[in-house]
Amino acid sequence: MNDFLKEEEKLFLQTYNRIPVNISHGDGVHLIAKDGTRYLDFIGGLGVNALGHAHPGIAAAIIKQSNKFSHISNYFITDIQLEFTAKLLKYSNMSKAFLTNSGAEAVEAAIKAIRRLRGCDGKIFSLTNSYHGRTYGALSLTDRENYKTGFEPLLPNISTIIFNNTEDLERKIDENTVAVFVEFLQGESGINLISSQFIKLLKDLKHKYNFAIIADCIQSGIGRTGKPFAFNHFEITPDIVLVAKSIGGGLPLGAMLTKGEFDNSFLYGTHGTTFGGNPVSCAAGLIVLNEVFENGLMQNAAEIGNYLKNELEELKNRFPDKIKDIRGLGFMIGVEMNDNCNLLVQELMQRKVLTNCTNKNVLRLLPPLITNKNNVDFFLYNFHEIVKINSGY
Ligand code: PLP
Repeated sequence: MNDFLKEEEKLFLQTYNRIPVNISHGDGVHLIAKDGTRYLDFIGGLGVNALGHAHPGIAAAIIKQSNKFSHISNYFITDIQLEFTAKLLKYSNMSKAFLTNSGAEAVEAAIKAIRRLRGCDGKIFSLTNSYHGRTYGALSLTDRENYKTGFEPLLPNISTIIFNNTEDLERKIDENTVAVFVEFLQGESGINLISSQFIKLLKDLKHKYNFAIIADCIQSGIGRTGKPFAFNHFEITPDIVLVAKSIGGGLPLGAMLTKGEFDNSFLYGTHGTTFGGNPVSCAAGLIVLNEVFENGLMQNAAEIGNYLKNELEELKNRFPDKIKDIRGLGFMIGVEMNDNCNLLVQELMQRKVLTNCTNKNVLRLLPPLITNKNNVDFFLYNFHEIVKINSGY
């Protein structure tokens, strides 16, 4: 074991299976290890690093804001928070925001908003295989048995509807339903897209029973799928939209975005956070919003992501014994292998490409939105080289 991993084992609770690379610094779509190895980063901070690493605009914005103040508490509102939030609301088409530090904290805010406005006895649903975070409320919505074991009982009146199963949806929703949380493009469970039929029925049922639809776009948001949010690929406007990950440009930032009655989810004192909407995070986030929505990065994700997906489809057709399915939108792509993909991830790493294996056999690709065709070709070349030899995964 490397010395730095031994040190890690001494110092940290063992919650993460760390990648054995000691990173020195980043440069755009690349991460450079201390030994000088330059890796193409298709993990992208698990969806955080939309502008890649060491983006000069983000670095400058952080320094500029830090030179003014980095925190003055939410007793104050600041220009940078106003500018960031106005832009976020503009591109999401929502009307109000509650800023948080993380995705899970945005999910918690939504649970509290639902409970406060619709009562604590109402039924809340999430979908099977969904991932909404690790805090108690978010974990109650998350449908991963191994994440929940040892922590129950979780929040009451929360259960699941089978993903994309319209019969189950129709059977479970009734007048006692107050909310359905939807990850339109599921990330952690292996890049699974919700179906139009499911969304159509969900809308019809909402019309009948008036429950809230909460779009968890924490991983799929801010241009990654080629549209502002994954729900924009469907004919639907959610009541609440949750974002985090990429919106802080690498700094902790999240948001619950509301409209309609949910604009009045909280009164003074009914909810709050110390660091949520930190001004330095907002300064970095503003650069992300500018680049993604006003400088063509969302279009880049759509175009180059589409190219990546089409090329992968071709490889799937050529190697059906290895590759089972290609899924996703824009720069959120899942390559389902016939077998566990941990070895594949290691082999790609030896070839200087960083990727992630989720749900056992899905190679998850979350490249920065600045990724260009040459970067994609480098990934494809190396993936192809591995897939074509019989390496036993
Ligand atoms: N929701 C989704 C869809 C996510 O992908 C994640 C994190 O991966 C979360 C919620 C939780 O966000 P965080 O890890 O910032 O708490």
